[in-house]
Amino acid sequence: MLIEDYDLEVFTPPCDPGAERFAATARLPTDISEVFPYLNATLRGAVYYQAAQALTWKKGGHNVAFHPYEISTSNVEDRDAAIRELEGLIKLVNRTWEARGEITPDYELHQRPTPMAVYKLLPQTNCKQCGEPTCYTFALKLAASKRKVTDCAPLFEPKQSAKLTALQAIIIEAPAIG
Ligand code: SF4
Repeated sequence: MLIEDYDLEVFTPPCDPGAERFAATARLPTDISEVFPYLNATLRGAVYYQAAQALTWKKGGHNVAFHPYEISTSNVEDRDAAIRELEGLIKLVNRTWEARGEITPDYELHQRPTPMAVYKLLPQTNCKQCGEPTCYTFALKLAASKRKVTDCAPLFEPKQSAKLTALQAIIIEAPAIG
């Protein structure tokens, strides 16, 4: 197990005094930077800055940052929510570390595609089959890793195959771990 213990800090971000949401950090006794290339390979939408030894990831409404001796998350309701969120992230790190023999590490920096770049590769029919009112709304969520390519059924019609291939090349899909 890579992370066995941590100290928790819950605080209001200094740029947002009076906010009702909090940020939280788990301070770690262990350097976890060796797991970053494996997280980069498996987390959809992760951005790995190898030179800075940092990896960021959007998880639901949380901005998550991994550093060698800490994991931080934003937008938590209270201390209990912070503990739940950070314990989930620690389990993710430990699972990924245990499975590293089956994962090809990825040292590349994958920039998140812009919503407009994603939109241009959608069918642009606003058919609503994905449950979104427009293709652009879907593009916003896909670019933010809140939806999956497979949620747009029309993309899998033969006439959309070129767009689908191009879209899959810019959207990083996550294989399941554990
Ligand atoms: S299912 Fe695809 S084509 Fe239809 S609205 Fe959603 S993104 Fe657009």
